[in-house]
Amino acid sequence: MNTTSKQNSSNRNQINSDDGNWQSKLTSEQYQITRLGGTERAFTGCYWNHKETGTYKCICCNNELFSSKTKFDSGTGWPSFWDGIDPTAINTKEDQSHGMKRIEINCSKCEAHLGHIFEDGPLPTGKRYCVNSASLKFEADTKFE
Ligand SMILES: [Zn+2]
Repeated sequence: MNTTSKQNSSNRNQINSDDGNWQSKLTSEQYQITRLGGTERAFTGCYWNHKETGTYKCICCNNELFSSKTKFDSGTGWPSFWDGIDPTAINTKEDQSHGMKRIEINCSKCEAHLGHIFEDGPLPTGKRYCVNSASLKFEADTKFE
């Protein structure tokens, strides 16, 4: 019998990195949050009050996740966006931890935990992507100099 089934291993967009690798590439806080699903304390991250124009990328794999155009001040102490940069950049998954029913958001490329999505955001989407600063890496937009 020599059956070769490649059902789950043929996705070339998937970035595989074992835990040891992630730990050497990330700070311990970044690792706790993105790989273990942690949450930074409100008002402690570097981007909750960040207002420059540019793109927020995944700290793990550089996948473009959010644009400053959809960032808004939610008053929560976490960077908040009312939409992702692209529908394929972010995966959602039901999270029932801590006795709450929430929607977790993850990087679609490397599955980094980003935060959660809530239904109390501003128009036009009405959504609030509540993201940990530690999951993000900001790149300033230089096109409008
Ligand atoms: Zn990623």
